[in-house]
Amino acid sequence: MMTVKKKIAVVGSGIAGLSAAWLLGRQHEVTLFERHENPGMGAFNLTYKEGDFEERIDVPLRAFNTCYYQNLVAFYKAMGVEIQRTDHSAAYSSNDNRSVYFGYRYVEFGKRAFPVFAGLSKINPKSVRIARDTGRFLLFAKRDRRKGLTDGLTIEHYLRANQYSSVFIEEVIFPSFAAICTCSYAAVKQYPAEIIIDFLASGMLFNGIWRAKRGAEDAIHKMLENCHTLHCNAEVESISKHNGKVKISERNGNEHEFDHVVIAVQANQAVKMISADESAAGKLLKKIPYERSEVVVHGDTDLIPRAERDRAPVNFLLESHQDKPMASIWLNKIYPSLENRSPLFQTWNPLREPEEGTVLGRSHFERPTVNLESLAAIKSLNQLQKQNNRQVWYCGSYAMPGIPLLESAVQSAMGIAQQLDVEIPWPVN
Ligand SMILES: Cc1cc2nc3c(=O)[nH]c(=O)nc-3n(C[C@H](O)[C@H](O)[C@H](O)COP(=O)(O)OP(=O)(O)OC[C@H]3O[C@@H](n4cnc5c(N)ncnc54)[C@H](O)[C@@H]3O)c2cc1C
Repeated sequence: MMTVKKKIAVVGSGIAGLSAAWLLGRQHEVTLFERHENPGMGAFNLTYKEGDFEERIDVPLRAFNTCYYQNLVAFYKAMGVEIQRTDHSAAYSSNDNRSVYFGYRYVEFGKRAFPVFAGLSKINPKSVRIARDTGRFLLFAKRDRRKGLTDGLTIEHYLRANQYSSVFIEEVIFPSFAAICTCSYAAVKQYPAEIIIDFLASGMLFNGIWRAKRGAEDAIHKMLENCHTLHCNAEVESISKHNGKVKISERNGNEHEFDHVVIAVQANQAVKMISADESAAGKLLKKIPYERSEVVVHGDTDLIPRAERDRAPVNFLLESHQDKPMASIWLNKIYPSLENRSPLFQTWNPLREPEEGTVLGRSHFERPTVNLESLAAIKSLNQLQKQNNRQVWYCGSYAMPGIPLLESAVQSAMGIAQQLDVEIPWPVN
């Protein structure tokens, strides 16, 4: 059956907008609007230079695994984006980086990669309790979820009610998820238990961590291949229905009309651009909370553990009275090209300022968090998007009932493509 080619606008070129543009562009004419001068998924990337050597660094560095992120991995494969395993072994320290209380490294075994204690120095009563609780969680949390025992519970409520040790809860789960979800401990505590369990029990702990081999820009380039027109430096101000079409007004006064508009900006930004006839969606979007944080790229080794043997590719530092940990990724361990170069780090939430001369770049990000109320709102938004004759669509990592990650962004774009009868060229997971 011949499909009628429609004019579709996608507003926002983070991974959600880019995925939507790639999928919808296979059958329709897609125009992408982005307020930054480059596609948003790579808008904060920077170039590291050392003599004649240059390397593009992804900011933030986005990693994934091959079991929770099945649609992302299939999408990358369909586009020919190569992926590579990276070493995301971790060390957790407190007390100004003086004491490392827990650490693991990955041991590769064919396609799998298993976390094991990172050396005898990390085996102590605390780390044994953490390992025991991790095993217990992996054995029982999925079962509890299946039996409905986690329904309506926050992750904090579930863990405390099941008497997990406070060291497992406060010194591993909270800091790890504060980093994974880019948010405060207060926000992690409010995450619905089911979401964290689905993530951890997906088998991810045994599949290692991966990244796009040639960085985000290779993926962006390929995601743009079905896009008819890309407008950068194009800030959309308002979206409204007009004579059976959807009108987009840019801040600079330009106006355009489309058959459909996919709004792939953050929920709190989408609310500002929609008109009164989208008030039902607007009410739901307002329920998504956001938190801001900073990422610094620098070369200051003082932000990771002092002893060489305690250092890992990912280094967490917890300090009392702080509302989130500091997490420093040692980029030389992630980028093969940086292996023998000067130390380079990407630190999320710097609890201490890196030495000024070593700072290469600073970026600020706003990220959605999830609580029981926002999860319910997202489920309702997904129902709303199933109504017939929709022309305005909401797309983003925030828009699926899970942790807002690359996978949920791709899933969200897939959902809209399916509503518009566009075939997904991989088995849908
Ligand atoms: C520090 C950090 C680390 C992360 N690490 C990981 C990780 O390792 N793995 C993982 O899976 N996820 C990670 N994430 C999360 C992941 O990056 C996000 O979930 C994902 O990028 C969100 O994509 P999105 O397309 O939904 O939104 P966004 O990336 O926010 O895209 C929205 C786009 O809309 C544009 N826009 C906004 N307003 C307008 C307007 N008025 N007009 C035109 N354009 C507009 C914005 O400029 C932006 O480009 C991380 C996030 C952060 C902050």
